[in-house]
This record gives sequence, structure tokens and C-alpha cells, in this order.
Amino acid sequence: MKIEAFNVRTVLVPMAPHRSASGVVVSSPLVLLTIRTANGVEGNSVLFTYGTAALKPCADLLRNLEELVKGKELAPTAITDELYARFRLLGTQGLLGMAISGIDMALWDALARSKQMPLHALLGGFPRPLKYYGGVGFDGAFASAKAAEEWAKRGAKGIKAKIGYPTLQEDVQVIREMRSAMGPDIALMVDYNQSIDPAEARRRLAVLDREGLEWIEEPVVAHDFAALVRLAERTTTPLQAGENWWGPLDFRHAVDRGVRDLLMADVMKCGGVTGWMRIAAIAHARSISLSNHLWPEISAQLMMVTPTAGWFEYADWWNPILEEPLIVDDKGFVNSSGLPGSGVQFNEEAVERYAT
Ligand SMILES: [Mg+2]
Repeated sequence: MKIEAFNVRTVLVPMAPHRSASGVVVSSPLVLLTIRTANGVEGNSVLFTYGTAALKPCADLLRNLEELVKGKELAPTAITDELYARFRLLGTQGLLGMAISGIDMALWDALARSKQMPLHALLGGFPRPLKYYGGVGFDGAFASAKAAEEWAKRGAKGIKAKIGYPTLQEDVQVIREMRSAMGPDIALMVDYNQSIDPAEARRRLAVLDREGLEWIEEPVVAHDFAALVRLAERTTTPLQAGENWWGPLDFRHAVDRGVRDLLMADVMKCGGVTGWMRIAAIAHARSISLSNHLWPEISAQLMMVTPTAGWFEYADWWNPILEEPLIVDDKGFVNSSGLPGSGVQFNEEAVERYAT
């Protein structure tokens, strides 16, 4: 089954403003990739460029990569490895890493669809329910508590808040007000989005350690493995890291260095399905929990075949352009839709409406 063509589109999907320590997202700038094979099977993937500045460059890059993939047999792992090898001199982080991951995801989607199987089944897994948590933005104590209350009403088993406020007292206030709004039985995670330096992190984490948190995510710059190790030695609460690492080699470096509490992979940065499976093997061999970062549809498929699968991060940001978004139940679980492929099918009418 040969690969025939890429179709690359860009959309801006409106969303409720989502604040983090590094800015506000008011719409999702997405590149939608569809790869068509000669016998008519298509595979889809979604790339999220965080801001609009990278939207067109990312789409252009994908269009330029088409000629390297066109005419090849539909063999996702082989094609992805070839693309990484081809760009060793340029480097495969940043936009290029995202583009290769996007191609990999679309190829795996096409392969699973060609066999009329959900991706988890193609990868040898069962459709098992995954306990999920919902996210709360960098919105201050009052709004964070309100949002936590809403997730709790929907049945979420965990809730994660963005923190990294100007003062430690504000971080603590957000955590305590959320806790009182959501009750004692739901897990509470916090995410600094790499916003503080190691000395400040040492000071703040010593205090947050008494708040009964499920984890503290990315307190310092993502690639400062030495700081993460030192912080983990002083902190009882597990530290979460990995969403900004670029593939299995970054995970190996981090784990070898001693970053071993909890791992999180982002399927668009870590090398798509191919990269994820290799990272899942690293996590499994070390008995470390692996969770997903965003990309709920395809990540659910991957978490079902991840031996040390941890918490599932659910987000509905891109639901408007999807034909059948992932559904969360009122018991706190996401379940497989049973659709063939990765579950990413575009709602063409919506794609047209939000096209850029
Ligand atoms: Mg995060």
C-alpha cells in the first residue's frame, strides 16, 4: 500500500482563554495533516503550534516533507526512522520534530484504518478504561476553585492546576481553595510550566510537600535534569516531567541521570506513535509511571498499550473540529470509542469554518 499524497490545512479553533505561567492561549492554532494512500485509505493527525507565529511555518514544513514520503510503502516505523536519519545534521527538535511526529501519527492512523482496527488493537492491546484528570488554568484562587468544582461535578478523578504565581503564598492559596472546592477524594496535581529557578523551586517545594499533592510538574526548565534530581531528593511529593522532551533519547538521558519519579510524554514532540512505544519501553523497564500530555484521542489509544500507564490527561480544546471526540464518563474514566485508527476524524464543516 503506497503513500500517495499529503493534505495539510491550518485552523484556529476558538477556546475559553487558558492561562499558564508562559502566557494565555485563546484559540488553538492547529495544523491538520491527512495522508492518503493509493488505495484510498487516509490517516489523520493534529499538530498544535501553541501560538500563531509557528502555524504557517509548520504547515509549510509538512508540505515540503511530502516528497520524501510519497511513493513509499505504508510502514510508519521505517519511514519515521528514515526521516530522523535524514535530518540529523539539521536537528530534529522544534518544528521539524513536531512535523515528523505528525507524519508518524498519520501513518499509524492510516495503517490501523487499513486493517479496520483501533490503534490500540493494532499495537496488541485491550480497550481498557483510563482514569483521567482535567486541567485548570493560571486563573487565580477564586476561578481555579470554581473550575475545580466543575471538574469534580463531572466526575474527574484528578484535577491539575497551573501555578507559579508571583509568591509562594498565592500558590498555596490556589491549592487550598481548590482542595476545599473539590473535596478530599480527588487527586490534585500542580504544574509550574518550567517557571521558577532551582533555588526558588527548593524553597517552594519544601512547603508544597505538606499539601498532599499527587505530583508537582515541571518546576524548573525541562532539560535541567540535574536540578530535577536534586529537587526530587528533597521532596516527598513525586515530580512529573517529560512533556517537553524530544523523543526516546531525551528520556534515556533524563532517566540515566536519575529523573525517575513520574514521566509524561507528548506524542507530538516525542516522535509520534513510534517514539511513544520506545519511551513506554524505557518507562516499563524502570517501573516508572508514564502519562500523556494532551492529544487525548491518540494518547488514549497509546495509554491502553503502555504497561506502566499512569493518569490520563483529558482536554476538550480541539473537540470542535473532530467528528467523534473522546468521551469521558461520570465515573472518571475515558473509554475507547472502538473507531478504527487513532480516533482522529475531522468534522469537515467545522474545519472549513475555522480555516485560516
Ligand atoms: Mg505540563
